[in-house]
Amino acid sequence: AVGAALDRAFADPAVQAVAITGGNGLFTGGADIREFGQPAAQRKPTLHELIARIDAAPKPVIAAINGISMGGGTEISLACQYRVAAAQARIGLPEVKIGIIPGAGGTQRLTRAAGGQYLALALEMIVSGEPQPATRLKEAGVVDRVIDGDFLAGVARFAREIAGRTHHPRLADRTIALEDADGFFARARADVNKRFPRLTARGRAVDAIEAAVRRPFAEGLQFEYDTFMALLETTESHALRHAFFAERTATHIADLPKSVAPRKIERVAVIGAGTMGCGIALAFLGAGFAVALIETSAEALQRGLATITGVLDGQVGKGRIDAATRDTTLARLTPSLSLPQIGNADLIIEAVFEELAVKRSVFEALDRFARPGAILATNTSTLDVDAIAAFTRRPADVLGLHFFSPAHVMRLLEVVRGKATAPEVLATAMGLAKKIGKTAVVSRVCDGFIGNRMLEQYLRQAMFLVDEGAAPEAIDAAIEEFGFAMGPFRMSDLAGNDVGWLIRKRRYAESPSIAYSRVADRICEAGRFGQKTGKGWYDYPKGERRGVHSPEAAAIIAAWRVECGAAPRAIAAREIVERLVYALVNEGARILEEGIAQRASDIDVIYLTGYGFPAFRGGPMFHADSVGLAGVVQAMNGFAALAHGDAGFWKPAPLLQQLASQGATFNRP
Ligand code: NAD
Repeated sequence: AVGAALDRAFADPAVQAVAITGGNGLFTGGADIREFGQPAAQRKPTLHELIARIDAAPKPVIAAINGISMGGGTEISLACQYRVAAAQARIGLPEVKIGIIPGAGGTQRLTRAAGGQYLALALEMIVSGEPQPATRLKEAGVVDRVIDGDFLAGVARFAREIAGRTHHPRLADRTIALEDADGFFARARADVNKRFPRLTARGRAVDAIEAAVRRPFAEGLQFEYDTFMALLETTESHALRHAFFAERTATHIADLPKSVAPRKIERVAVIGAGTMGCGIALAFLGAGFAVALIETSAEALQRGLATITGVLDGQVGKGRIDAATRDTTLARLTPSLSLPQIGNADLIIEAVFEELAVKRSVFEALDRFARPGAILATNTSTLDVDAIAAFTRRPADVLGLHFFSPAHVMRLLEVVRGKATAPEVLATAMGLAKKIGKTAVVSRVCDGFIGNRMLEQYLRQAMFLVDEGAAPEAIDAAIEEFGFAMGPFRMSDLAGNDVGWLIRKRRYAESPSIAYSRVADRICEAGRFGQKTGKGWYDYPKGERRGVHSPEAAAIIAAWRVECGAAPRAIAAREIVERLVYALVNEGARILEEGIAQRASDIDVIYLTGYGFPAFRGGPMFHADSVGLAGVVQAMNGFAALAHGDAGFWKPAPLLQQLASQGATFNRP
């Protein structure tokens, strides 16, 4: 449509200048990334053809950027002879976020538009993928004018001003004066490597910008295009695109018709003002809900209030919210010691101690006092949601809302669907998640749900690796090099080693057939609970947050190896990574088979948003797909044969075995 309109405008002698604009606060969102590599991307006119026509236009073309401009849209605007923007407009080239760089001149023209003086700004925009406000780009000379007030009238005024000019600037004609280009790019590369380790596209973006500075336009353009095409085929780019779609797909529930209307939720009650209750209350307060916070004792309630106020004060301190917002937020919070107070709540979330008897007393009370139609949710991590629902006479209104700590920060929310959960209760939860800025993934009921059930296998392997000779530092280093935000031992020290200890004690009693290394118990028996006690797998001298090697922990480990009769051997980083990650994959496959997760990509979303799995690897299931499932199975057979192998666990899940033998993948392309 743009192409045809340009034809008409160029042909009409009455037209002296042309402006391109968008609607609804959007200039353009950029390419449809589903089309990458597909025939649809070749539909005429292609982005490249359109840009070439604008670049060589017989009349000046003005990009009238009315709002958000992203990717290909920004590249079109840069090919225009002029750019004017609404005051609230934001302009970006977010391509690196999906593992590529702009491929239609974006790096070459933005760099030229910014010139030597503002080169750092152009570089930051391209390398971070974050949009910049039009006002800032006006200072840098990328935008010619910011228009306050009536936008289209302002555009028309600008068009009349420039229409009579004999010369219209073309960014392609500009050269960049940069003193000490060598120094500039060396610093840029060092910075990018530090901020975005292991992300190829970010570094390649610097190469493209350097080409813009050092080479003639046509050569730079070709370099950019070749780089773009090569990046399209990287695992990083496939993985990041997978992650992007996986999050959207996770909101679809196969047997939940769109016609199911969610219930209306305005007032929320949270039971329990501990770690999770406070975070959950903050998440809802931040999204504008009225929240009642219920505790059993005045001290616990006071402590909870102090936590919530502290977090909000911290946000004021960091400039994220202003003092007035903090005050109105706190004004929506009603602390209370009376459970019957929940009578007017539309949604009640329980976050009390993880004991079935306590949950029972709470849910029996909720059943008595909640209004009919209220949704009753539990934040339990390990208990049976169906059993909890059965404590009420309204199990259809009950579901699990499994938040992650800290609940006001972590994006992931597992929505746990019980046997009896009503469709509209599920629909309501999915809609709510979006309102409070969470990424929701549906799980059926099982011990640990999707995320923690898989994590248990990962942690079990981590402990076996210690028994077999790997130091916790070596295991953390290997998996962090793979790209995890934090290795299992640093993570346990942060979360508190006593938490896992409690869960294991329950497992020893309930499932004596599961094999566990006792090394973590020995660490706990020595009072090494992690950061909170100043010592865990690492030592934390003087309250430091980054642990250092602990001779005491090493001695405990050495003694345990003797006790359990393991003969320590040297273990390569590759084995460490494969055992940890394939443990996730095999358990993930079982979770899929059992129908606990709806689809492999849901599992990937959980690991990407809740467990620090490296985004550029697309999640555990996608990673297994990219390695090739036959290779995964082969490695697993090798692990089963190890002396200390836990062969039963490494027997590939039937689904994994079947897909591997068919040459298929978990995630359908
Ligand atoms: P916590 O011990 O910090 O807080 C529990 C709070 O509940 C305490 O303040 C306690 O006074 C209060 N409480 C106990 N009985 C109550 C009752 N009958 N009525 C009102 N309040 C009562 O525990 P937490 O870490 O916040 O965990 C709460 C729940 O969230 C548990 O089910 C836990 O499994 C789950 N969970 C915890 C995490 C985590 O990382 N901590 C993550 C996800 C889920």
